[in-house]
Amino acid sequence: TATLVWLRRDLRLADQPALLAAVERGAPVVPVFVHAPEEEAPWQPGAASNWWLHHSLARLSEALERRGSRLILRRGPTLETLRELVQETGADAVFWNRLYEPAVIRRDRQIKRRLRESGLRVESFNAALLHEPWCIRSGSGDPYRVFSPFWKSCRQAGIDGTPLPEPEALPAPPTAAARPGAAPWPGSESLDALGLLPELRWDAGLDRTWTPGEAGAHRRLHDFLENSAERYHRLRDLPGQPGTSRLSPHLHFGEISPRQIVRALRDAGLDPDSGSAEPFLREIGWREFAHHLLFHFPHTTEAPLNPRFEAFPWRESERDLRAWQQGRTGIPIVDASMRELWQTGWMHNRSRMIVASLLTKNLRMHWLHGARWFWDTLVDADLASNTLGWQWTAGSGADAAPYFRIFNPVLQGERFDPDGRYVRRYVPELERVPASAIHTPRGGRGRAADPALALGYPPPIVDLRESRQAALEAFRRLPTPG
Ligand code: FAD
Repeated sequence: TATLVWLRRDLRLADQPALLAAVERGAPVVPVFVHAPEEEAPWQPGAASNWWLHHSLARLSEALERRGSRLILRRGPTLETLRELVQETGADAVFWNRLYEPAVIRRDRQIKRRLRESGLRVESFNAALLHEPWCIRSGSGDPYRVFSPFWKSCRQAGIDGTPLPEPEALPAPPTAAARPGAAPWPGSESLDALGLLPELRWDAGLDRTWTPGEAGAHRRLHDFLENSAERYHRLRDLPGQPGTSRLSPHLHFGEISPRQIVRALRDAGLDPDSGSAEPFLREIGWREFAHHLLFHFPHTTEAPLNPRFEAFPWRESERDLRAWQQGRTGIPIVDASMRELWQTGWMHNRSRMIVASLLTKNLRMHWLHGARWFWDTLVDADLASNTLGWQWTAGSGADAAPYFRIFNPVLQGERFDPDGRYVRRYVPELERVPASAIHTPRGGRGRAADPALALGYPPPIVDLRESRQAALEAFRRLPTPG
């Protein structure tokens, strides 16, 4: 006998329920990763996610080898691949940790049923969330659509900060020398053969910025606790400051769990219930909320949660979309944000809201254009959080700000990047522009910069005031519900 542990986005050894349960069975444990991105269509992982996955699998494979185990890599289709591995290893059980994307849920349910039909023990576990989406319900039994009561309900249900222990050793299949005739380790693809890294090497900026893997995740958490956690509530909105945790890609790939984060906050003497860590834990709460919404309203990956927006007159403009993607809109805070994304695979939350607002409101382009670009370029691209973030900003999602509250990116820049540090970091054309004009290099509300100082920087592609009026007008013309 043996237990297959099918690893997906739970790429860690500590607080790893499926792995621990397998170890506790006592039989040999065979950890396996099956590469089958087409099974997640239409949201199969993008290029930046694949970059992360490659490195995370490499680190996990090393960590497993240090414990006498081995990571088996295979290509899908998943069901057939797991069946082959069951045959090859004599496994009588398959364990995994749950995911919550609609296409993945459909696939996993089918795999669970089919494997059980063939007499295997199949179990799935929660490794990713404090509370699974179906555990939190409003008084009427319906899912929540507003964050605050959802989070209150989570708090009342209890926030567990007790991670599971990491197994010390993983029982390995017997070697041929130890037991002739016994099933040995099954064969594995090489990591390079999965083709996760880009052929054109655009990933140098990602290499410089990130350390994928479980150890990298804990280092990042430790740095945050040491340097920023106490000041999080003051710094978290300033994209030019290292004030947030940057744990999002680590959380997405399951290199660290929310339970471990809660525990670390408590161990560091930061009270997540009421003290300085509360605003940070609340953001972890938004991640939980995003999963709750995705699970209960799976259509929202493509369609608005608020049906009123189905008739919204979106614009199409290839030229504007490209300017936005390339960070050449002529609006400094937007361009800095989009270039941060391109160079590092990540963007600050404040910046995400600003660029999403410009695209969906001032440029009136469908939020899916933005969501798809983020999907390909973010190392933390996550269907739950990305869908929530885009629908929220577009005004069509849960708990969205009222439509008429349209961000003015110039005012946002002046408020959240007052000295222009962030803009200068990513928009070298504006390096010499003084702070007083950095968000309005061509004039407008603020002072215009000496044109010689902003050479090569384009004029704004859109008039902010007129486009705001046009967006409000388009919204007003939408049929009202009922
Ligand atoms: P911190 O401020 O340190 O927060 C800690 C953790 O809480 C984060 O790592 C993240 O897991 C979670 N979190 C924080 N804010 C949010 C939020 N608003 N919604 C959900 N979870 C949150 N986040 C993603 O992880 N993947 C995405 O694809 C994604 N797309 C987004 C798209 C848009 C348009 C917007 C407005 C937001 C999006 N977010 C997404 C949410 C948020 O911007 C990032 O989670 C955050 O910037 C990550 O940085 P951090 O780890 O330093 O966050």
